[in-house]
Amino acid sequence: MRLSSSFLPTLKEDPAEAQIISHRLMLRTGMVRQMSSGIYAWLPLGLRVLDNISRIVREEQNAINAQEVLMPTLQSADLWKRSGRYDAYGPEMLRIVDRHKRDLLYGPTNEEMITDIFGQFIKSYKELPQLLYQIQWKFRDEIRPRFGVMRGREFYMKDGYSFDLNYEDAVVTYHKMMLSYLRTFQRIGVKAIPMLADTGPIGGDLSHEFIILAPTGESGIYFDSDFTEQNWLEMPVDINDKESLAAFFQRMTRFYAATDEKHDQNEWQKVPESRRCEGRGIEVGQIFYFGTKYTEAMNVSVIGPDSDKINPHMGSYGIGVSRLVGAIIESSHDDQGIIWPDAIAPFKAVIINLGLKNQACKDACEALYKMDQEQLLYDDRDERAGVKFADADLIGHPWQIIIGPRGIGNNVVEIKRRETGERMEVSIEQVMHYIS
Ligand code: ATP
Ligand code: MG
Ligand code: MG
Ligand code: MG
Repeated sequence: MRLSSSFLPTLKEDPAEAQIISHRLMLRTGMVRQMSSGIYAWLPLGLRVLDNISRIVREEQNAINAQEVLMPTLQSADLWKRSGRYDAYGPEMLRIVDRHKRDLLYGPTNEEMITDIFGQFIKSYKELPQLLYQIQWKFRDEIRPRFGVMRGREFYMKDGYSFDLNYEDAVVTYHKMMLSYLRTFQRIGVKAIPMLADTGPIGGDLSHEFIILAPTGESGIYFDSDFTEQNWLEMPVDINDKESLAAFFQRMTRFYAATDEKHDQNEWQKVPESRRCEGRGIEVGQIFYFGTKYTEAMNVSVIGPDSDKINPHMGSYGIGVSRLVGAIIESSHDDQGIIWPDAIAPFKAVIINLGLKNQACKDACEALYKMDQEQLLYDDRDERAGVKFADADLIGHPWQIIIGPRGIGNNVVEIKRRETGERMEVSIEQVMHYIS
């Protein structure tokens, strides 16, 4: 994209309404614009990040054979009356009446809808397990929307749902999903740690919240720092073998990790002192086994092996895709601006032309830009070098490719790594090798 003809409206001043750094940076870099309380428009730069995260989430869901669907944002109140949650959900649910006086709602989550869809098609235990997910907008009328997209009212979520014949099978699905989430967050480039979460009246220990370490987080967290040394992408796990999955899960749960709600001082003392990490964190995802809660309430069953009626065991699995954008910035920035992890950066690199009037510079920039117009941002604006450098640091491209009259005579350009500030001189031919 050429910066001179793009819609990337950066702000010079810090916006007064933003209390935390990620919100400030998202507004300053023109990623989003608030349209009303807790409701945001995603502008080109922000949308690119949202899409990059969604792509990785989708790939890792597909890798465990979850199947993507897309359900409507508007749901019928009748569906929620069947589960008993229409009244129970309370004021966070946005209720809507259509012209025929029918009660609708903007979905805050989709357990009811997916259970209904499942029940209409799946009739036999032989068709189990089923694992379905979508990436779709949700609405929760949060009492205090704040911190920009981190606690919005309208927000983008990956929500997945599983149906298994019994508890044992549901546990296998839970393990699979745990692996998928660890891989997803590792690929995105953030440290999100699964922490035991409250399961409410269902009990058991099959719920985890995935938490990113950040001082502005809403929960206090305690974890074994060795957890963050694990490489989940390279760990050999056979997702079709429940023993292999169970071994992985056991290995994972060896590391202590808990939010303040679940913190256990006795267990904590067993972690070697040098590995005890305490801090605050942001919830970016949650996985949950809840058994037959909805299939029973909504009277959804399959015919079992002995021709008996069985309510499938369910789980649900969320990732806050739009919250992640803010949470990642919260944990990855410095005084100059955002530092994007490579995998989700809006652009791989920005080309900064320091010699607007120099034909050789211009030619070199154009040639480089043509190598990957989709992933390179070309700062071809007629601006001072200082302005271009500041904007590049602010937006946080992983790489800056700096092309000036002095180097270009020797076929040399400078590349700067945003994360470390490290600079290198490389030949034009080598540039793409570094940044891709
Ligand atoms: P929170 O505790 O922050 O209110 P939650 O536990 O109510 O979140 P879940 O029902 O577990 O949220 O939804 C799955 C994911 O959706 C959360 O882990 C979070 O990342 C995201 N999410 C929830 N509420 C919001 C919101 N208001 N704005 C942005 N993302 C949200
Ligand atoms: Mg909530
Ligand atoms: Mg929560
Ligand atoms: Mg939650």
